[in-house]
Amino acid sequence: VKGLTKKFPLGKKWFKPNGYVRAVDGLDFTIKKGETFGLVGESGCGKSTTGRLINGLIEANEGEILFDGQNLVGLPDSQWNSYRKRMQMIFQDPFASLSPRMKIKDIVIEPLDVHYPKMPKSEKLEKAEKLLEICGISKFHWNKYPHEFSGGQRQRISIARSLILNPELIIADEAVSALDVSIQSQVLNLLVDLQVEFDLTYLFISHDLSVVEHISNRIGVMYLGDLVEVASKEQLFKNPKHPYTQSLLSSIPQPGKQDREKIILKGEIPSASNPPKGCKFHTRCPFAMDICRKEIPENIHVDDDHVVACHLYS
Ligand code: SF4
Ligand code: MG
Repeated sequence: VKGLTKKFPLGKKWFKPNGYVRAVDGLDFTIKKGETFGLVGESGCGKSTTGRLINGLIEANEGEILFDGQNLVGLPDSQWNSYRKRMQMIFQDPFASLSPRMKIKDIVIEPLDVHYPKMPKSEKLEKAEKLLEICGISKFHWNKYPHEFSGGQRQRISIARSLILNPELIIADEAVSALDVSIQSQVLNLLVDLQVEFDLTYLFISHDLSVVEHISNRIGVMYLGDLVEVASKEQLFKNPKHPYTQSLLSSIPQPGKQDREKIILKGEIPSASNPPKGCKFHTRCPFAMDICRKEIPENIHVDDDHVVACHLYS
């Protein structure tokens, strides 16, 4: 992803907006094949928008999304289709994304009906049943309806559905956030197993840093539409550089280890429609300097595969 930008118009008159919210403001990052890239940040920071841009659900204003070398930004719809199959999304609320009047086996088959209308029904069923089984839904339940399942089981069903087209990239947006903690770890473990079995790459979006820690190889931290830090999980947790990352980490307990010194941020997240000048974090940063109020910090490579946007390191 290079310079990816999405602006949403503000105000009632869509044809003459009162300005824009830069929901995603020039992101640069890479997701490596076969890895899990975690995208973390508070709600409204632009992480869901980033996932939806990559998946083509919404269109970028600027920048590039290079998927297997092909820039997807501005690609005509006809060409998008072949890429759409290769990326699938899993959402937070499986109940909302599963049609209540369909049996779950038909829900899992549906993407095949859309993309491969000529495939025989028996072949589709065979694929769906295999995936449901792998995702932990036994055959006694295949003729049931979504409301007959628990939240965790429904997420398993939507995961089975997301796999039916043999995708390469799965974008999971708060995929376990609605689930109890014990169920969360079961679903995360399922995702890890599936990644190995089907050679999947994940973009894993969550506001919950401990969930992201559980599953990710590399992590990007977002604040007000910017990526402020990208690093391997180990680097990010051992050696966080950006004051915002440091504050996020200081708020999660460290089982068996000494808790980090708590960094309490001043104030609320500023409005995305009128973000602070310079470093957008300066209104809350305990280390803000003069330059922070004036100049936007550049991305600085502090280590191999560790990038931070902060004047403290320039
Ligand atoms: Fe804080 Fe300045 Fe770094 Fe922004 S650039 S995070 S305000 S020190
Ligand atoms: Mg979101």
